[in-house]
Amino acid sequence: MIASNIRENVKRILAELPPDVRLLAAAKGSTPQEILEAVDAGAQLIGENYVQEAALTYETIGRRAEWHYIGHLQKNKVKRAVGLFDVVETVDSSEIAREIDRRSAEIGKVIPIFIEINSGREPQKSGVFPENVEALIREIASLPNLKVSGLMTMGPVSDNPEDVRPCFTETRKVFERIRNLNLPNVEMKHLSMGMSNSYRIAVEEGANIVRIGTLIFGARE
Ligand SMILES: *Cc1c(COP(=O)(O)O)cnc(C)c1O
Repeated sequence: MIASNIRENVKRILAELPPDVRLLAAAKGSTPQEILEAVDAGAQLIGENYVQEAALTYETIGRRAEWHYIGHLQKNKVKRAVGLFDVVETVDSSEIAREIDRRSAEIGKVIPIFIEINSGREPQKSGVFPENVEALIREIASLPNLKVSGLMTMGPVSDNPEDVRPCFTETRKVFERIRNLNLPNVEMKHLSMGMSNSYRIAVEEGANIVRIGTLIFGARE
């Protein structure tokens, strides 16, 4: 895909998004040059699934965008991840939260994290079930080197994005309920949901971050 298409794709999506919704360019498989093109065109956030790939891209782009980790984080990658990323969107256990806290403390950082919700209740997928989110947040909120700042969900993969709507609706309800609890050290601010084929629905359901790959960079293997 030629770079100018990336620019046009980002501009078109941004023109359509309400002003309070931020665009995260889901970068997996794209070259640093392509990702830079997306950032130059106005994508404010970069989402990376792989710590290694992010480290390479970071050399090209640096602080020109906000870096979000959106992959499944393994414990042995946490140290590198907290050094690189501004936000980890995919926390789904107290074990991984504790490791993030410990590694962030080592470098004197307080890192915002989102809780990943398995809103489709798919056994093979990561994320916590909606009814367990509050308990997890209560368990980890007092960790001094992380800050619970939002929720993220994927939802089931389907050709019909309307199938995902109930998952987005439920995630937004959890988001609002937790926000209204006003838990200490918890700031329910960011709601990350919606991808290339579902972001319009996600925005209707209250997302303020949409994570888009294919519509920006083209289809990947
Ligand atoms: C790849 C990916 C996306 C973007 O998916 P597209 O369908 O390509 O827009 C969003 N979120 C996560 C977590 C991803 O891994």
